[in-house]
Amino acid sequence: MSTNKSAKKSTSGKTSVSRKATPRAKPGAKPAVKKTRAVAKPARAAQRAAPKAASKPVAVASSADFMAHAYAMEAEAAERYAEFADSMEVHNNREVAELFRKLARIEQRHADQILEQMGWKQSPVGAAKVRWEGMEGPETADPTELHYLMQPYHALQIALHNEKRARDFFAHLAKSTKDKEVRAGALEMEEEEAEHVRLIEEWLKRTPKPDANWQADQDPPVLSD
Ligand code: ZN
Repeated sequence: MSTNKSAKKSTSGKTSVSRKATPRAKPGAKPAVKKTRAVAKPARAAQRAAPKAASKPVAVASSADFMAHAYAMEAEAAERYAEFADSMEVHNNREVAELFRKLARIEQRHADQILEQMGWKQSPVGAAKVRWEGMEGPETADPTELHYLMQPYHALQIALHNEKRARDFFAHLAKSTKDKEVRAGALEMEEEEAEHVRLIEEWLKRTPKPDANWQADQDPPVLSD
């Protein structure tokens, strides 16, 4: 005799999975997830070095480390581009603002793709280590503080520098990884970042170079005594 299993099953067939929206990664935010690394090869782990200068290629031990670094670069870029866009809007430079908005979306998509590819639910450990390089170089520049008189030319220069850095990073990753999937992803990213480099170079050609005294406020606040 057949049992009534199927009828019973249908009542519980509806599984409601409450999936919380993953919060956006914030630099400096304490990551709550433990990094799961499937295989940590001792030989490679020995190559790990604590990098001091941000401009030097970062020595990382595993694909997961590489991808965490890649994620950090992309997330940082997305954030900075959004800031640049805001800044350009203040300058009434709609065109360049739109360029930065577009780049912000692309870099955010890259960051999301990395999370997806690695199966990470949120920003990986160590992701806050990477900082964008501003006008004064990696040592002193606080990229979150843009000069209030910064012109499109400066923003594009900073963007160009960081796009080249991203392109070179992915090129390096593609060459050094033994992981086929990571290599394929890295090559794709390298090509996209190279495209950004070209795009920004094109924009720079059309952008007037600021005067030497661009930092001088033409309309300084008046101090009355
Ligand atoms: Zn880019």
